[in-house]
Amino acid sequence: MVQVKAKRYHLFINGEWRPASDGETTERLNPADQSPVAVLPMATESDLDAAVDAARNAFDDGAWATSAKRRARVMLSAVAKIRSEMDALAPLLSREVGKPLPEARIEVLSMMNTFEAFAGMADNVHGRAVSNATPDALGLVLKEPVGVAGLIIPWNWPLALLSWKLGAALAAGCTTVIKPSIHTGATTYEVARIFQEAGVPAGVVNVISGRSSDIGEKLVTHEGVDKISFTGSTATGRRIMELAAGNVKRVSLELGGKSPNVVFADADIDAAVAGAQGAVFLNCGQTCHAGTRLLLQRRIHDEVMTRLLALIDGMTVGDPLEASTNMGPLVSEEQLRTVEGYVEVGKKEGARLVKGGNRLTGAAYDEGFFMEPTVFDGVESGMRIAQEEIFGPVLTVMTFDDLDEAVAIANGTVYGLAAAVWSRDLRTTMRFARGVKAGTVFVNCYYGCGIGNMPFGGYKLSGVGREQGEEGLEEFLDTKAVHINHA
Ligand code: NAD
Repeated sequence: MVQVKAKRYHLFINGEWRPASDGETTERLNPADQSPVAVLPMATESDLDAAVDAARNAFDDGAWATSAKRRARVMLSAVAKIRSEMDALAPLLSREVGKPLPEARIEVLSMMNTFEAFAGMADNVHGRAVSNATPDALGLVLKEPVGVAGLIIPWNWPLALLSWKLGAALAAGCTTVIKPSIHTGATTYEVARIFQEAGVPAGVVNVISGRSSDIGEKLVTHEGVDKISFTGSTATGRRIMELAAGNVKRVSLELGGKSPNVVFADADIDAAVAGAQGAVFLNCGQTCHAGTRLLLQRRIHDEVMTRLLALIDGMTVGDPLEASTNMGPLVSEEQLRTVEGYVEVGKKEGARLVKGGNRLTGAAYDEGFFMEPTVFDGVESGMRIAQEEIFGPVLTVMTFDDLDEAVAIANGTVYGLAAAVWSRDLRTTMRFARGVKAGTVFVNCYYGCGIGNMPFGGYKLSGVGREQGEEGLEEFLDTKAVHINHA
């Protein structure tokens, strides 16, 4: 493994870098080998107050909210700097969370694309005029930034998700207090530094790392914060919703998933098998909309399984910085234990473990949190391993006979984040797409087919609100109706 010295970071508040007011720090270790990656500040309540005050002042000043071109310029300038720092940012992300370097590079690229898209939208925040009711009056529907936005971000796609939230907030004219996961403070502070260099005014972007149960909750209840945009688990999302009730904050929640990936017998089987592999093992299964439930039409079950298991046999699990690696470690020991626990649950429930199931051991693995790619076949929809979000490299395989049964199984969990369908028949794919209760549906692809900036979010317990696209921008805007009498 490549050893690089841990960098010490400070809180970013009001355009300044400062240690936590009580000097507390924590160390982030590489989940692949336990080498030090970063020393991060643990914010106190007074640091949080300072960050919210800075964001409040920057918003109330009014200049940021009313300078769309400047907001666009700052984002585009940040994108240019991110591009020039790709070779440093991607390996840092890889070391911070253990994702293979090519995946880290794709994430940095995706962050750049999102900021670019929102830069284009900053100058296009439109209201509307209502003029056809009477000759002597005019109605104006104005869109205004909601104010100070608290952005709470998980560790699994920390830069992509940062750009979904920060890009929309900045395009709308909001100011922000960002709370990253403690696992991913380093890359978040690096992006804040890049925005500072790109000319973002003091107080518009603030970053504070700290304890979830302390600084996270206080951000959500803070009277100076107008909106919380949260991504994380459904359990935490529930808690955020309760906490935000105090000053009736606007809340958007991007939560967990258990997404079905449905393959019909008339599909392009090669594409579907490759898609099924990527759908679940990308980022070691730690993706909210991972395709963790593979539904196969009964008559192609054996063929698909033979090909899929052969593909999995060819996967290399190991050092995320090695070019040959397909899958890195889980993010933490705790996450590894959770996944191991679910493997035991699956065995007890009577599912057939047909691949993996074990922690990897040996010289290359002992210091990290590596798990074999794991597949359970013969899974019943009611089993816990088919219902609960495992958040690791574990695929559950089920069979179905017809479209109605596929839709019923697909809809048979509390989640509704994403779904995919593979078939050459337009009628089949469209009936599935309309019948499935999910915020995103992939047809003959998984994780998209090259169309960026599409709205993303969940049905049911997968969340409230949308990110990316016009819908994502709308989450950071308020609507004001102005009635004008010009008789
Ligand atoms: P998590 O809920 O533990 O934490 C998410 C963020 O919330 C972190 O920054 C954490 O520090 C903070 N947090 C935790 N408890 C808090 C509290 N009580 N008050 C305020 N903040 C708090 O989730 P995680 O383990 O970091 O991420 C994995 C989860 O995120 C999975 O469930 C995954 O499905 C979900 N996720 C959803 C999406 C989506 O777009 N729907 C995207 C990525 C991840």
